[in-house]
Amino acid sequence: MRSRVLIFGIDGGTFNVVGPMLEAGRLPNLARLQAEGAAGTLSTVCPPLTAPAWATFQTGLNPGRHGVFDFLAPPRHGYYRRLQNASALTAARVFDTLSSAGRTVGAVNVPLTFPPRPVNGFVIPGMLTPSFADKHLYPPSLGAEIRGVGEYFIDMDPANFEEVPDEAFTEDLYRVAEARKKIALHLWKSRRPDLFVVVFTGVDRLMHFYWDKAELVRRHYEWLDAALAEFMEAGGEDVTTLVMSDHGFGPAEGEVDLAGHLVRHGFMTLKKKKNPSPRRVMDAVAKLDVLNLRKRLPQRWRAAARGRVMERLSVFAAVDWKRTKAFPGTATQYGVYLNVAGREPEGIVDRADYEKVRDDLAAGLEELHAGLRGRVVRREEVYHGPFVDDAPDIYLPLWEDGIRLVEFSDDPAVAPRRRRAGEHRREGILFARGPSVSAGSAPNGATLADVYPTVMYLMKEAVPAGLDGRVLAEVVTPKTLAAAPPVYFDYDVGGAGYVDGEDAEVRARLESMGYLG
Ligand SMILES: [Zn+2]
Repeated sequence: MRSRVLIFGIDGGTFNVVGPMLEAGRLPNLARLQAEGAAGTLSTVCPPLTAPAWATFQTGLNPGRHGVFDFLAPPRHGYYRRLQNASALTAARVFDTLSSAGRTVGAVNVPLTFPPRPVNGFVIPGMLTPSFADKHLYPPSLGAEIRGVGEYFIDMDPANFEEVPDEAFTEDLYRVAEARKKIALHLWKSRRPDLFVVVFTGVDRLMHFYWDKAELVRRHYEWLDAALAEFMEAGGEDVTTLVMSDHGFGPAEGEVDLAGHLVRHGFMTLKKKKNPSPRRVMDAVAKLDVLNLRKRLPQRWRAAARGRVMERLSVFAAVDWKRTKAFPGTATQYGVYLNVAGREPEGIVDRADYEKVRDDLAAGLEELHAGLRGRVVRREEVYHGPFVDDAPDIYLPLWEDGIRLVEFSDDPAVAPRRRRAGEHRREGILFARGPSVSAGSAPNGATLADVYPTVMYLMKEAVPAGLDGRVLAEVVTPKTLAAAPPVYFDYDVGGAGYVDGEDAEVRARLESMGYLG
């Protein structure tokens, strides 16, 4: 009998919400997974960000070996950082390894699967996909089939990430979620792939903006719990079900001005003459463009022109690079890059001085971070592999306390984005239930990288040797382990790293959600 696995992904799933709801009996299907299988914490990558998290899920590798550290590529070819995409992942992903073994796979809305690569099955890519067009699906013929079943949306309308009435936000959220459920259920039932992964993003969006309106959040977890039951029922009793998050969640607890700190301590110098902020200029351009000239340009030209314009207009145009030793990453990335000679476009820190400058920077950041949890993290403490040099040189681990960075802007007149009520955390959720899963067991220190090898094992396939994750044997029945211990095969990770995935619409969507500030 084929061993099949269903992965029900919950972007931002957290025991901070799920725990009390399980106790109150409001999530009967997750409760059933817990009682009849395994349940526990699944910790994510550093920092707790959707793009590197799903890259680690797909490859079983830490970001130092898959090369994705953020939604944006590292600032190697200009300080305006371009969007990253799934072409960066050249390591065989769980979908590729299973395809090579002759198994069938299906993925719906897994972040960082655009552009889709051919697999023995189908892919509707997730976050970072420009639009729901046939050419963006694998196989492209999937589009016609799906349109025969119902509508589909890559994500919510970005307008709803601005200040809107609660009803407008939740109406759009449920519209997207219901449409995704319908299409995903159709594919799960009609194709019956050996591995099926569907990711729902609604609670992440809700918790960012409505963490303080807990009942709105809880209602969507109830919706997910009911949807989970539909997928499990459609799969049948012999299917192993995993419910997993890409990162956890908790309340937003304030902001720290990292860029201001770097300026005050002489690590970053701003030019005397102020540039207009990019957001203000882009707003003005959008208003002036009555003839819709931008849309008439070929997409390729638009992206290239926008890249050049944005580089000139970006907040980093305000930076005097010849007098800047360090500069911040995005607000959700919590990282600082040193401006290294020969690495950054106008780098001034000599490699010989690198450790000294970074130690000075770390000492100042420790002060900024005083009284908070965790401590300043040097990248080689959390990553290993060929792409470590693409990561920010140091992290300020404010995510431990739910503190966000003030967006780096030199224009105080720019209206702040919508207030975020919740932020990502390291600790997410993992539930598993199936023929080989021990009832009442719990994963022990599980990380996202463990999911891939564990799925291979549960599907009775050989496991790639040398992944950063491990088979979570503690949730497997002793009988299964004794009868068939894990078997490994030699595996070459290959190289990858920075790939330009710039797309204006995707960028606008991420900007409106506050991911790129
Ligand atoms: Zn999020």
